[in-house]
Amino acid sequence: MRVEILNTGTELLLGNTVNTHAAWFGRELFKLGLRVARQTTVPDGEAIREAIESCVARADVLIVTGGLGPTSDDLTRELAAAALGLDLITDEAALRSIEAFFAARGRPMAEANRKQALAPVGCDVLPNPNGTAPGIYIPPRINGRSDCALFLLPGPPRELQPMVHAEVVPRLRALTGGALPAASIELKFTGIGESDFHQGIDARLAEIEGLEYGYCARIGEVDLRLIGGTDAIARAKEIALWSFADFLISDDGSSLEQTVIALLARHRLTLATAESCTGGLVADRLTNVPGASEVFTHGFVTYANEAKTAVLGVPAADIVAHGAVSEIVARKMAEGALRVSGASLAVAVTGIAGPGGGTPEKPVGTAWIGLAAKDATTTASQILQPRQRRDFKLAASQAALDAVRRALIAR
Ligand code: ATP
Repeated sequence: MRVEILNTGTELLLGNTVNTHAAWFGRELFKLGLRVARQTTVPDGEAIREAIESCVARADVLIVTGGLGPTSDDLTRELAAAALGLDLITDEAALRSIEAFFAARGRPMAEANRKQALAPVGCDVLPNPNGTAPGIYIPPRINGRSDCALFLLPGPPRELQPMVHAEVVPRLRALTGGALPAASIELKFTGIGESDFHQGIDARLAEIEGLEYGYCARIGEVDLRLIGGTDAIARAKEIALWSFADFLISDDGSSLEQTVIALLARHRLTLATAESCTGGLVADRLTNVPGASEVFTHGFVTYANEAKTAVLGVPAADIVAHGAVSEIVARKMAEGALRVSGASLAVAVTGIAGPGGGTPEKPVGTAWIGLAAKDATTTASQILQPRQRRDFKLAASQAALDAVRRALIAR
């Protein structure tokens, strides 16, 4: 089934609004086993009509976003009706629901909002509990004009996304006969570079018939996307894990922090963090995961040397002798965080984000990760990630979380 997306709005082409709908639909439709065959963006106005005419001639399903508002430049419903040769009539139920929307907020309804209740004859009006603009579904072959099913949806994401889940997905399932399992998985790996990863498995993946695969490199992470029959996916997964099982974050799309939280919960262990160069990013990532409070106890941000000493008990002499970015300080930070927090594990990170502060022995991008546990010897590892500050912090936070992940899977 050929699905096309048409995003409307002059603001998208002026660069005032980032077109997040395009990516969002790509992901949502893929979950249904569908692909976006083409995505088009047009400004408000007559271009919408031309685009609808050419899209419906090619596509089985066209999803149009934006331009359903009450203002004079919101013309999507009028232009879609014109493109398909359909008359617009006022949908009484839609009008009552728009009136109710304003009444519930104690505001009078402007005359301009009446046009939002207009809908082409024979179409379904899609309720919008989050705004005034109802969506519209124009089934295929209505008026004998087009074989393409058309959805007209409001622009604001908070209105569009719930409407897609409630109204569009069931209709897409019906159009495709319901058999739409997404035969795909995403394996996430960390601690290995994209080229090494690629070189390690690519030739063998290429031999698997019926497998579509792709790599996506992020900071401190490589994702492997596998699409195909279940046998093909299972063989590909086996190949990837045979070479890189130690580096696997997840096979279900879970992030590194989600995996760490899940592993801590499984082992009934708690974690504290002691951060310098990452400024709390490790703790931030952990606490973005629902359920973090069960396993994450303390996040210390000890940026200044004095803070490392006063809060975590890192001996000032160690900092003077070895520098704040050193193996010994990373170890002492982790041990201090363990002691002060009473958690079962503590991870520490100290590094040189740059642009200044590097030396030939400790260049910008150097970080030490310390890991202390109540029942194990403290360990430390070094990374070298010379990047922009924000990216360096992300890479260092990734290494810190990965140190915890490795410690937990070794238990
Ligand atoms: P409204 O009733 O708010 O006018 P509408 O259906 O007419 O809704 P638009 O006017 O096209 O929709 O867009 C309203 C807002 O929705 C935009 O200002 C923008 O913030 C957001 N929006 C629209 N299209 C997109 C898009 N493709 N990606 C992300 N946001 C979008």
